[in-house]
Amino acid sequence: MNPMKFQPVLDEIVATLRPQIAQCGQGEHHGKVASYIPALARVDARQFGIALRTCEGEEAGAGDFETPFSIQSVSKLFTLTLAMQRMGDALWERIGREPSGNPFNSLVQLENEQGKPRNPFINAGAIAVADRLVSQAKASGPGADGGNGGNGAKDDILALMASLCGEPIAFDDEVAQSEADTGFRNVALANFMKSFGKIDNDVATVLDTYFHQCALRMSCRQLARAAAFLCRDGAHPIDGQPDVTGERQTRRINALMLTCGTYDAAGDVAFSIGLPCKSGVGGGIVAVVPDTLTLCVWSPALDATGNSLLGMKALELFVARTGLSVF
Ligand code: GLU
Repeated sequence: MNPMKFQPVLDEIVATLRPQIAQCGQGEHHGKVASYIPALARVDARQFGIALRTCEGEEAGAGDFETPFSIQSVSKLFTLTLAMQRMGDALWERIGREPSGNPFNSLVQLENEQGKPRNPFINAGAIAVADRLVSQAKASGPGADGGNGGNGAKDDILALMASLCGEPIAFDDEVAQSEADTGFRNVALANFMKSFGKIDNDVATVLDTYFHQCALRMSCRQLARAAAFLCRDGAHPIDGQPDVTGERQTRRINALMLTCGTYDAAGDVAFSIGLPCKSGVGGGIVAVVPDTLTLCVWSPALDATGNSLLGMKALELFVARTGLSVF
């Protein structure tokens, strides 16, 4: 597929949305940046970027596609990948695969379901995945902490992201600290799971891992590239080796993105866009067109469901313009 044909599509999307980008964050119908994490509340809402990477490795981007942002829950995609690589099907003993139908940070369901999170993309599920990664890092040897305070899982996450992008990726320590200072619900979720015996490690270490993964700073270009294994049956985005996830695992990650990747809007997103997506409260969304390309859109103002308002509009425009959808 000739990637050059996508550049005009991305340019057109930015041009179409330009008037709405200028209004983002201003008034009821123009979205709001996440304010419950103080460091995110300061982000300028009037930014918009879009980038893609094809299966053949060609890239295109428009708008603020080189601007790094806080990837937040988009990181759950990559920690899930790492845990699936390391643990295979054993991962599912602790985590389900059903949409939750509850807010992403809800405690209610956990009580009824004895501390087993519904899926790896709600906060409880991602915290449980972080716990598995901490255990795996400990098992693979002490001393591999690389300056991350004895927490080898954080190094493993950085190593995966750098390998997928082909360039160094860093945590935004200010955002991580901001979450640590205010993430009372996440502290509650982790302790709740611990009380059910579903978290093996020290809660503080698990949360430190989780807060840092959410605080990864990446651009649309980097995220489209990092997630590109999902559009090519798990083959590494850069060197093409079949070493990120196998075909079967990749299918499963895409299925989870479609059913659970966009908070309580997953049904609507499947209906109106028809692509596996994972969003985050930083305003980023990664979307996959299997066997074709991976897209990343970013615009910090969120709609009422917690997804990027213009990010979702951009994906709708992209699908309408190209006809690319899994359905
Ligand atoms: N770090 C955020 C939290 O734990 C992630 C939320 C999100 O992006 O969905 O609340």
